[in-house]
Amino acid sequence: MKRKRIGIAFFYHESHSFTPMITELEHFRNEAYLTGETIIAHYKGTKTEIGGFIDFLQEKSAEVEIVPLLCAAAVPSGVVTKETYEHIESEMLEIIKNSAPLDGVLLALHGAMVVEQMSNPEEILLGKIRQIVGVGIPIATTLDMHANIDARMLNHTPLHFGFKTYPHIDMYEQGRAAAGAVHQYLFENKKFKASFEWLPMLLPSLNMRTESGPMQKMIQFALEAEQIEGIENVSIFGGFPYADTPTSRASIIVVGIDENTVKEVIQKLTKQYWELKEEFIVDLPNAKEGLKVALSRNNIKPIVLADISDNPLSCGSGDTTELLRTMIDSDVEQALFGGLFDPESIEKCREAGEGQLVSLDLGGKVTPEYGSPVSVLAKIVKLTDGVFYNSGPMNQYLKVDLKGAAHIIVNNLDIVLIGRPMSANDPEMFRHLGIEPTDKKILGLKVKNHFRAAFDPLVEEIIYVDAPGVSTNNLSTLQYRQITHPIWPLDNLNK
Ligand SMILES: [Zn+2]
Repeated sequence: MKRKRIGIAFFYHESHSFTPMITELEHFRNEAYLTGETIIAHYKGTKTEIGGFIDFLQEKSAEVEIVPLLCAAAVPSGVVTKETYEHIESEMLEIIKNSAPLDGVLLALHGAMVVEQMSNPEEILLGKIRQIVGVGIPIATTLDMHANIDARMLNHTPLHFGFKTYPHIDMYEQGRAAAGAVHQYLFENKKFKASFEWLPMLLPSLNMRTESGPMQKMIQFALEAEQIEGIENVSIFGGFPYADTPTSRASIIVVGIDENTVKEVIQKLTKQYWELKEEFIVDLPNAKEGLKVALSRNNIKPIVLADISDNPLSCGSGDTTELLRTMIDSDVEQALFGGLFDPESIEKCREAGEGQLVSLDLGGKVTPEYGSPVSVLAKIVKLTDGVFYNSGPMNQYLKVDLKGAAHIIVNNLDIVLIGRPMSANDPEMFRHLGIEPTDKKILGLKVKNHFRAAFDPLVEEIIYVDAPGVSTNNLSTLQYRQITHPIWPLDNLNK
């Protein structure tokens, strides 16, 4: 018997519409850009979707042959340029054409990619792949839980498999499930149907973890539904609220054999999801309220005010000023703020020299819409080249180059300026300047979750504050232009 040829491909980006940063070809090249057999070498043995495709297909090697196509991925960032998308798309389509005939295609996607002047790139790509391979050839995708699903994706194939965990630790399993469905189609003649429902709700991701809370409940419902005869797979999508597109919202896909059962299941799940919506909203204190709580404590070890909206690893510019301004205005003592991305101010400090006083306009330069610069008179304590080695445990001993750093004092507040955006995930960011963060009562840090690996043992309490910024928990502060209204909670709505 001639083996069936299954193509595998990967095109992955989570795009943030509210940052001025853009994503270009070099960002994909820096992360992953592979074609042909190098794909197998790179992903074999990894717990990724591609790793799942490969393992499943290799176990069936008597029946199927893997045809590696193209894999391109970049870390989450701003919108992808049209030129970059078109470059990758045309190369992928060319490779697919040249790989004919294909008997099936497995495609790992994110589902929240945004391209300049194009809000639904994954749907467009899928349609073009369908056109090339023709009808009757099974195509299956894997999708991130934070995908914003365009209903038209189901016109191209019913086979979509979303992650069921956050943090995402089931990419491999969903890759295997997608490969399994293609295999069943080809060898058991299984004809799948899918149903899609979107909900008019835009959910912040802070409370979407699947170990507890409302998303855990939804995933439990999904797993129970998968036990029903005629149901193959249920995907619950939280959506990605920082992508501003007409399809940015929560949704559900149910895949199965029996059309009526699929419809019944999705209707029930949609109702359950809508009823849980309030539980996704977590109220965080603003900068002033957070600082007030910190000042009311009688702490020995430091209390962290975590400026999550501007965490550089979540696409933050690292230079928003709300928390900084609040700490300066409150004249807090034994406090440290950092790292604030501000190469201009570092340059001014360098011109003035250590020990001098200098007038600075701190931060607020990259995204002034989230807070203007803070004008201060600062004392320059120390200047460095910004190079240090992490003490870990995360990325231990890894060299970090901040492209310059400065320790300044404004009123009683120690401030660390850095030459490129960087989350304060390691205390060496401060220690390399001679500052011991554990000597302080309050730390205002540009961080979200990773910093806890190093800081949890050093601090007494972490207060997440929601200041204005691109990754805010309060979606009503973002200037949406493309989303479909009405949508909860931005609009008052009862379905
Ligand atoms: Zn995700």
